[in-house]
Amino acid sequence: MTAPPAPDCPPLAGALRADVAVIGAGYTGLSAALHLARAGADVVVLDALAPGAGGAGRNVGLVNAGLWLMPQDLIARAGPEHGPRLLDCLGRAPAEVWQVIAEEAIACEAIPNGTLHCAPDAAGVAALTARAAQWQALGADLRLLDRDETSARTGSLGFQAALFDPRAGTIQPLAYARGLARTAMAKGARICGHSPVSGLRETAQGWQLATPQGQVDAAQVILATDLFPGAPRPECAQEQVILPYFNFATDPLPPELRAAILPGGEGAWDTRKVLTSFRLDAAGRFIIGSVGQLGALDTAVHHAWAARQMARLYPALRGVALQWGWWGRIGTTSDALPRLHQPAPGLWSVSGYNGRGIAPGTVFGRLLAELCLGRISADQMPLPLTPSSPAQLRSLRGLALRAGAAALHLVSGHGAR
Ligand SMILES: Cc1cc2nc3c(=O)[nH]c(=O)nc-3n(C[C@H](O)[C@H](O)[C@H](O)COP(=O)(O)OP(=O)(O)OC[C@H]3O[C@@H](n4cnc5c(N)ncnc54)[C@H](O)[C@@H]3O)c2cc1C
Repeated sequence: MTAPPAPDCPPLAGALRADVAVIGAGYTGLSAALHLARAGADVVVLDALAPGAGGAGRNVGLVNAGLWLMPQDLIARAGPEHGPRLLDCLGRAPAEVWQVIAEEAIACEAIPNGTLHCAPDAAGVAALTARAAQWQALGADLRLLDRDETSARTGSLGFQAALFDPRAGTIQPLAYARGLARTAMAKGARICGHSPVSGLRETAQGWQLATPQGQVDAAQVILATDLFPGAPRPECAQEQVILPYFNFATDPLPPELRAAILPGGEGAWDTRKVLTSFRLDAAGRFIIGSVGQLGALDTAVHHAWAARQMARLYPALRGVALQWGWWGRIGTTSDALPRLHQPAPGLWSVSGYNGRGIAPGTVFGRLLAELCLGRISADQMPLPLTPSSPAQLRSLRGLALRAGAAALHLVSGHGAR
């Protein structure tokens, strides 16, 4: 555990009133709470466990601009009105993360040194070339690095090219979530941990939320539970297919090993469909991740693959133990775009970041706060208001992703030197 301790968030006990109740203390809910509290609104956040207990505390820590989609695909899918707006908003989203971290002095190992999207093969080089051209046409300052510069920047001979995005960077993800929680509380937000919301009903004044030991009455509600099935409105979860993703980490590496890996401090991942992500943390731990679940059946397969892949990328790390492992659920939508819903008046949600939730969650949390404050209207949002529609064959597709990744990791990388 490398994050600062969690702030003290005792469970809700008794009845509270608030202007806005937020369900879920991930990036979306916490950013909303921070901005509401900054504006002087009375806000209560309820989390089933604790701030950062969901995807926010389990992810890779890559603070990316945009989504996984190519910029032009994003515009085509989101449409001529929302597409350019969404791309512009998410292109600027990392800057907003760096700004919040600086303004609120959040200690979360923020390294705004960019990211390297690395191509291990010709198909990857072609994809990065197209991605670079599309972003550059929009005025973004991304740079495609050749093989030599990629080797120098990654410290690995495993890639033919890389796309450097100077807008992006890395954080310790749980530390960022806890920092948002602490700073929102310092500005007056009340955050209750171990307070799963089981009931949500409309009242004459707004909404009433029920937890095991209490209730909150609020004029408006932000539902920020992303893909948690136990949430009081399960629609957000049901429209996402779960992509499991794991990370393994070494203990801090000795300085001579550390110096040769990503010496510029970027975060990195590759263009493969079953991708590899890798970075160093502030203490010099090497963190490597990929698609897969660390369950009883698959942990050994993914751990062995991660050790082989680490040694393939960085031969000097062969034999270094991957001591720590964790995994989480990434929610994916049918068109890889997030969703904005208003299931009823005064009830808002944004979910489905498709593995890109740090910067988008921060930005959409602010935008949800602005909606609740009446500073913007729904038609000014970078996403259209849509009804939710459940994903087809959701469980089966999730299982297929899990099994497919395990099968691939079982066979890949053997015999690689
Ligand atoms: C392994 C992994 C790697 C990832 N890597 C990256 C990355 O490198 N970069 C990136 O940008 N994104 C990444 N993501 C995605 C990112 O973490 C998510 O998109 C982001 O956490 C979503 O934020 P959120 O606030 O919407 O939801 P979450 O962070 O999931 O928070 C939801 C919260 O709701 C609470 N909750 C659920 N049900 C209830 C209830 N009934 N009552 C009260 N509270 C409830 C949960 O306890 C939880 O704290 C990754 C995700 C995973 C899992």
